[in-house]
Amino acid sequence: MEKRVGGGEEKMAKQIRPEEEAAQTQLQRFFAEIPRSIPVVLFSEPGKNDSFSEGARQIIRAIREITDKVSLQEYPLTHELAKEWRVTRSPTLILAPEACKIRWLGAPVGHEVQTFMEALRIIGRQEPGLGKEAAKVLAKLDSPRAIKVFVSPSCPYCPQAAVNGIRAAVARPDLVSLEIVDIQANPDLADQYAAQSVPQTFANEKQIGLGAQPEELFIASLAALEPTRVFIPDSDAEEITCDLVIVGGGPAGLTAGIYASRSGLQAVVVEKGVLGGQVATTPMVENYPGFTQVGGKTLVDIMVTHALEYVKIFSGEEVQAIAPGEGFTVTTSRRRYKARAVLLATGAGNKRLGVPGEERLAGRGVSYCSTCDGPLFKGKKVLMVGGGDSAVTEALHLHNIGAKVTMVHRRESLRAQERLLVTLRQSGIPVLFNSEVAEILGGTRVEAVRLKNNQTGEESTLPVEGVFVAVGYAPAVELGRSLGAELTPEGYLKKDERHRTTVPGIYSAGDVEGGFKQIVTAAGHGAEAALAIFEDLMNPYWTVQKKR
Ligand code: NAP
Repeated sequence: MEKRVGGGEEKMAKQIRPEEEAAQTQLQRFFAEIPRSIPVVLFSEPGKNDSFSEGARQIIRAIREITDKVSLQEYPLTHELAKEWRVTRSPTLILAPEACKIRWLGAPVGHEVQTFMEALRIIGRQEPGLGKEAAKVLAKLDSPRAIKVFVSPSCPYCPQAAVNGIRAAVARPDLVSLEIVDIQANPDLADQYAAQSVPQTFANEKQIGLGAQPEELFIASLAALEPTRVFIPDSDAEEITCDLVIVGGGPAGLTAGIYASRSGLQAVVVEKGVLGGQVATTPMVENYPGFTQVGGKTLVDIMVTHALEYVKIFSGEEVQAIAPGEGFTVTTSRRRYKARAVLLATGAGNKRLGVPGEERLAGRGVSYCSTCDGPLFKGKKVLMVGGGDSAVTEALHLHNIGAKVTMVHRRESLRAQERLLVTLRQSGIPVLFNSEVAEILGGTRVEAVRLKNNQTGEESTLPVEGVFVAVGYAPAVELGRSLGAELTPEGYLKKDERHRTTVPGIYSAGDVEGGFKQIVTAAGHGAEAALAIFEDLMNPYWTVQKKR
């Protein structure tokens, strides 16, 4: 019996040895291709996460048995160097401190061994290995980014998220720092960031990625400091010639882009701010056909992804002037476009209340975007001003994320859709009717509002920490006006049934035209305008007009 076991062990030993040898050779080759040595510094404190500290030590010792390209220095957390480098957690590994700012809070074990080896390869070769488009976006970064990637040794998706961070930190050591946080060794930190699933990526304390992101989306999210689900390649061209420039990347502009390109026109969409316009900041959309409930940003991402199949999108580019001539020259903050026609799908901006304190406290408790700023007001008292669909949708969103919401409306009833009103009643959110905000009060932050009852003239003060304003939108007609386009008495761009403004070759679509201001109507009008433009460019009505 003993012999048989022994014989078996001998056989097994013979089987394992070649595999081990192969692995060793592979590792030797791996390190032979790394030209530089990589110093690793380990800080630890006995009694604090000892098993993780020992895990970190063991993996580096095992590597050092194969190569001398990795060195290890170890210090207690009480050491001067820990203070100087602001290291407070045990264990913390610092990789190549002279070359980059990468820290590992925990031990590279389990799936994280793969990340650690990749980190050594990237740092040792000083080759971030980013794709061309991602590298271009990262090269343009002009302010610091402190990344935290929360990982767990048992998570097979985590290495991708961590390696994205490593590539960025090695490519831009001047601006990008990285902490890879093992949630098992640092549950308190995971709690603090509410990182209840891994991988999760934060930059400058803002969540920029949930789950493993493709490299380009990670870099785009890192640059934008928000989760980005669509990557739009950049262009260095100084001048672009096309048939149609669509100004505005909301539902109207994006749909127009799809329709124009499918008609055979060379079209581009230029957007100065956030793609999707107001939809991007709408918490939840419930009336876009095909979606019972969809987050505004998600719907935008779907639209942008679809539009990118057909049309080039230039975002973060503001149209500064449109000059008629041979067609139109559209000058933006980045380049020029020569086009035969221009579609203004510029949408509308948030209307202000125009009360004392509003401007001074904007960004200090006064907000026009509950989706963006709402999470900061969890558990806090906030006021939602307005009586339309936006105000009710946003009040419900704030209520759902745990803010203590009161609504205030200047009339005796709300004008929002019945379906929203039913949900509002069910939520129990109190509504102050016939009341107006007379002033927003506070020193460096919003502390209260002064309210006036417009029936009784009675004034009161309501303590709140946030004031969310959703009192409608003002159409963005400036570009149209600068071209001499006429406006309607309500201040929208005047257009005919083919979306032609009063300036030949200039068209309009979406909220800038007034009307029902729904996502679906904006999209519909974008499609109509694009089809009309296609027909007009085939047979320009302005030359026909001239001949007459
Ligand atoms: P809106 O329908 O124009 O409503 C604006 C609200 O703000 C009105 O109740 C208005 O009061 C009030 N208001 C305006 N100026 C004010 C001031 N200075 N002080 C206090 N209150 C003021 O705007 P919206 O709610 O942003 O909606 C815009 C468009 O988007 C609408 O067509 C809407 O249907 C659409 N939308 C649809 C959805 C959806 O379908 N789920 C969601 C959001 C928006 P008065 O009533 O006294 O005029």
